[in-house]
Parts: sequence; C-alpha cells; structure tokens
Amino acid sequence: MENLEAQRAALEASELSSLELVSAALARAEAEGRSLGAVVGLRAEAALAEAAESDARRRAGEIRSPLDGTPVLLKDNMVMQGEPTTCASRILEPFVSPYDGAAAERLQAAGAIILGRANMDEFAMGATTENSIFGPARNPWDPERTCGGSSGGSAAAVAAGVTGFALGSDTGGSIRQPASFCGVVGMKPSYGRVSRWGLVAFASSLDQIGPFTHTAREAAWVLEAISGHDPRDSTSLPEKSPDLVSALTGDVSGLRIGLPKEYFVDDGADSGVVEAVRQGVAELESAGAKVVEVSLPHTPYVVSTYYLVATAEASSNLARYDGARFGRRAEGVGDLDSMYRRSRSEGFGDEVKRRILLGTYVLSAGYFDAYYRKAQQVRTLVRSDFERAFEACDVIAGPTYPEVAFSLGARLDDPVSLYLGDIYTVSANLAGLPGISLPCGQLQGLPVGMQLLGRSLDEATLLRVADAFQRRTDHHEQSPPRAR
Ligand code: GLN
Repeated sequence: MENLEAQRAALEASELSSLELVSAALARAEAEGRSLGAVVGLRAEAALAEAAESDARRRAGEIRSPLDGTPVLLKDNMVMQGEPTTCASRILEPFVSPYDGAAAERLQAAGAIILGRANMDEFAMGATTENSIFGPARNPWDPERTCGGSSGGSAAAVAAGVTGFALGSDTGGSIRQPASFCGVVGMKPSYGRVSRWGLVAFASSLDQIGPFTHTAREAAWVLEAISGHDPRDSTSLPEKSPDLVSALTGDVSGLRIGLPKEYFVDDGADSGVVEAVRQGVAELESAGAKVVEVSLPHTPYVVSTYYLVATAEASSNLARYDGARFGRRAEGVGDLDSMYRRSRSEGFGDEVKRRILLGTYVLSAGYFDAYYRKAQQVRTLVRSDFERAFEACDVIAGPTYPEVAFSLGARLDDPVSLYLGDIYTVSANLAGLPGISLPCGQLQGLPVGMQLLGRSLDEATLLRVADAFQRRTDHHEQSPPRAR
C-alpha cells in the first residue's frame, strides 16, 4: 500500500484507516527511511493525532481532497510551526520555525499527514544529497549509488515506498534529477505557481516547490492542492489553482512533441539514456502524437548562466545567516566581526561556501557587467529559444540527466562535472517553465528519466502527456529491489 492512488482507494473503500496508513508509514520511515538516510526528522505523535482526525472527518462524510489521510514528507527546507528546519546545514541545526510555510499549510488544508522531513543537499546546493550534515541519502535501487539531489531524500523515500508522495524544491533540477535517478515522477511547476512562503530561499528567481509521486495523476492531485495565489509570496502568480485532473484524458493525438536537436548530439547524454528516451518518445508517437525537431540554440550556455544567476542570488539570500538572528552562533568570540566570521565559517559546508564566494565575486563592482549582467542577457535569450520552439510544438521531450545514478563519492572532488550534468534541467528554471521527469526505462538495472517541458502555466498539457505515457507503459510500476 505504498503508492498514493492505492492509499486513496483503500481509504475510500474503508479497507484501511488513515491511522493504520500513517502508523505503517512511520514504521517504514524509521526503518528504510532512516537506513537509506532519506528521512531526517519525524513528528510521529502529531502525525498520528492528525491521522485520527482525518479518520473522524471521513466517518462524518467530510473528505478534503484526494490526499486526505495520506502520509507525506517535506524536504528539510520547508518550515512547519514548532518543527526544526535545518536545510541540512550546521548553521540552521538549532532552528525551530515559529510559523507554518505555505506548503505545510496547504497540505494540511488538503488533509494530508506530514510525517516529517527528508534529507537534502545543504541549502539545496548539489546534485547528490551528499552535502548534508546528516550524511548522504542513498538510492533504493542500489544503496551504494546516489539518489540524486538536492531533493534526494524525498525522491528516495517515495521510491522506497516510505510515503506515497513527498515535496521537494527545484532551482536547477533538484526535483527532476533525483526523480530520474530513483525511478519516480518529479515535477517542477511554472515559476510562481506554488507559493514559496516558508521555503528557505536559495535563488529566488529560480526556486519552485513541487511533488514526487509514482504517477502523473498523483502529481496532478498534489499540485492542485499546493498551487494557487498567495499574497505572502510576491512572486506568486494571481492564477487560481488549475484544474489538472480533468486534463488527464489519455488522448495525445495530434499533439506535437518537440525534440531539441541540441539534446540529442553525439557527445551528449549516455547512449543508453538517449535510447530509452527515444523509445519513450516512440511510444507517444504510436499514441498519436507528432514528433518534430526543434532547436534551443543557447543550450551550450545554460549551465554557466545558471551558475552565475543562482550563486549571485544565493550569496545575497544567505547573507542573513549571520549568527545574530537565527540559527547557530559561534561561541567564545570577543567582538561582532569575529562572531559573524566564525559563525559563518563553522556553519556552512564547503559547497555552500564555494557558491557564496562565486556569487559575491560575480556581483562585485568590477565584474558585475561581465558576469551577472551578461548572464541575465543570456537568460533572456534562453527564454526566447523556448518561445520560438513552442511555436512548433506543444511539449518538449528529452533526457532529464545525461546518465543514470552514479556511485556515492564518485563526484565529491569534482563539482564542475556535477554542474555540467545540469544541462537539461536548468533551462526550465531560467525560463520559468514547468518540467516533469518520468521513468521511461532502465539501464543496467537503474531507472532512466525522460523529461517533458511545457509552456509557462501549461502544467495541464505536460501532465496529460505524462499520464498518457503511463497508461501505455509500466515503467512507473517497477520498484527497487529493497521495496519488493
Ligand atoms: N544541481 C543544481 C545545483 O546544484 C540544482 C540545485 C537545485 O535545483 N536546488 O545548483
């Protein structure tokens, strides 16, 4: 009973109570969740009490949403009142949130039961969930391999069946890439779709919250619950929460799938990954979709553009961790300056420091025009690449990541190789577009992810295509050996 749709059906048929579901999920979170390093904090007592309330509501005939009574994990960068939020960082280790973020609030309004917190890369900077004070999260398909990152704990927990769904955040691929490594569905909504009130900021012009599930249908349920305008987030769009479930017709006939030629070059993704994605696209074609070639000519520049914009914004956002206002303060310091310096040197890990240094550099007076302003200009070009491509197609398809999950530790000394791996995911963030990764095959027993990108605010078409694909295939039904 480990996927959301089955949980919902069992609750509706009164075969299981929420209390039973949540107790079982807590047990799995303590066992597999902890041993995989995917779960880093649980609120067992509160979750059980909320499950009992959900059961009472259901008995009274009040069901809030398809999520009512089902367990969920939040990435450890979304705040909940009275709970710690660490961002997997020493600097926030002692932090307990005085308020509920929008994600927690909306999930609870939908009746979902928040079990606790999932592991991540420190401040969401990384692609392996190894930059964490809790230690790495592991891939349920092979615990010696990475589950991806930065929302790796959320992806691993859903793949291992700890919960039927989880939330992550995606600044440059942090939902879609771990989803592809763990064989689950991961979706980044359009920029502004989901409120970021209470999401600890990494790069504010790129960050978005989104779901991990097994199916596009389940992703539609979660997205309907968490999206919609929020006046507390100034970047939140005025649109109401979209009707996504009714878009899942299974019909893709006549729909145009664009394959960017820059995503299918010889020295690009691993050939096995490309093969699986091509087969996925062929499946859509046999369902009546039309495949067209499109071009995203600025693709060679997206990684550098992303790492300039993201680090610049991060250096500014992370300036607030000064030891004075919240989080950890260095002890035994004599003056204010050394308090700031020591708190920050002790509190941040190496990758976060690297990004703060890079971001501060690109924003500094002498280099601003050469790096930051230039990056903003290229960002505009990337956006217009997509506008042009979407004149010829309705959805863009390609690999989510150039390879399948690699060994833990393999890239620890080579951050640049990790940065380069983000080539297919960062564009959606730069352009503000929705993107989804869904399992489309396996390579050496490890899941391969296919990414679909859509027009801004067109989550409906994206989910329609993903759902149609899943109706015809069973890749999303494969589960890792540990969960079998
Ligand atoms: N891998 C990317 C990075 O390290 C993406 C991170 C994210 O989306 N949070 O910045």
